[in-house]
Amino acid sequence: MTQHKYLLNENQIPTQWYNIVPDLPAPPPPALHPGTREPAGPEDFAPLFPMELIKQEVSQESYIDIPGEVLDIYKIWRPSPLFRAHRLEKLLDTPAKIFYKYEGVSPAGSHKPNTAVPQAFYNAQEGVRKLTTETGAGQWGSSLAFACAQFDLECEVWQVAASYRAKPHRKTMMEIWGATVHPSPSDLTEYGKSLLAENPDHTGSLGIAISEAVGMAAPHPDVRYALGSVLNHVLMHQTIIGEEALLQMQMAGETPDVLVGCTGGGSNFGGLSFPFLREKMKGNMNPTIRCVEPAACPSLTKGEYRYDFGDSAGMTPLMKMHTLGHSFVPDPIHAGGLRYHGMSPLVSHIYELGLVEAESIAQNECFTGALQFARTEGIVPAPEPTHAIAAAIREAMRAKETGEETVILTALCGHGHLDLASYESFLAGKMVDHSLSESSIAEAMKTVPVM
Ligand SMILES: *Cc1c(COP(=O)(O)O)cnc(C)c1O
Repeated sequence: MTQHKYLLNENQIPTQWYNIVPDLPAPPPPALHPGTREPAGPEDFAPLFPMELIKQEVSQESYIDIPGEVLDIYKIWRPSPLFRAHRLEKLLDTPAKIFYKYEGVSPAGSHKPNTAVPQAFYNAQEGVRKLTTETGAGQWGSSLAFACAQFDLECEVWQVAASYRAKPHRKTMMEIWGATVHPSPSDLTEYGKSLLAENPDHTGSLGIAISEAVGMAAPHPDVRYALGSVLNHVLMHQTIIGEEALLQMQMAGETPDVLVGCTGGGSNFGGLSFPFLREKMKGNMNPTIRCVEPAACPSLTKGEYRYDFGDSAGMTPLMKMHTLGHSFVPDPIHAGGLRYHGMSPLVSHIYELGLVEAESIAQNECFTGALQFARTEGIVPAPEPTHAIAAAIREAMRAKETGEETVILTALCGHGHLDLASYESFLAGKMVDHSLSESSIAEAMKTVPVM
């Protein structure tokens, strides 16, 4: 009998997150204070984040215990299922074995609650009253709204204007969980006002929304900010995905030859891949591990490895990362969660060390793969993981040529039930592959500090 899904019991939920930093052959470069350009200390982050998360951000411990209160909430949707994509394999007529770890079973429909819940928990423990944040596609904002509701925190979200207009239902979801939502740029911050004065129809960007949310949190001692990706502690919280997947691949009796994941800020990719990279570094397996990014926002494959700001206004600490320039505004592709000018400093560092690879794929190929996936496996993927699926399909077609039984593992990090307008556009033949303008990258790179 063929087995389709590999399920763990609740008592098999990993009770620790994995911190890959101490296992790396070289430490990642530190974040720098934007003014002094000296390594940023805990006091530089304290206006924005609770002390426990700051400690996790720079921790040298390999494992950090998941608090019981967080595990209890994780149990709403964890452990998440691992599927073998038998029907997709059959459609592709490939000898490859395709496995996908599905995070769309969470309340918000993506992997984001894996970090939203602990972030809300540590803030609540330290007496914070309200969290502010940005959201692109709406996945992070709704995850944080859900998490804040669990701990009686207020939640205020700046949603990138293009997505605020295109995805009103994401806003409603955030409001159901009690959050307040503003389009970004907004007239609530000086920065937002200045951008709206230049262009009242500004479509916004993640970098701009981060500036607004940070600006609203920093001056108030009982308000803090939460980031849904990019930072070390966020990627660490997501390693619960990979730790579960390791157990599930064992159940399936397989080890991956290739692991692919979509990268916006790097958190679902890091979450799935870091535990496998640990096993690879220990010599227990040898998978090729690859980031997949959109052709319209290719920070790893086309960006430079430089110190740059995490936001557009230049308010955050400087982080050494692959960047297209913090003023780069990517074309409005459907995968809103992948429209970020930078890449996680940790994923960037690991890429520089040669431990992972990267490729970029344009959105028509992604949605072509997503339809093949939906019509066989049934699940409608979010626009972001269509990149991971397209990469898995590329691998499966390569396996078909060579006749190898390549074992492919990927993360289906969210469902696309609130992204149907993207599918509508694709089905109507109206989706365009944005050409990446080298000159707009060059322009944006001019704003990156020279150091
Ligand atoms: C936010 C999001 C992403 C991009 O963020 P990463 O940190 O790169 O994972 C990808 N997929 C989905 C479904 C998201 O919600």
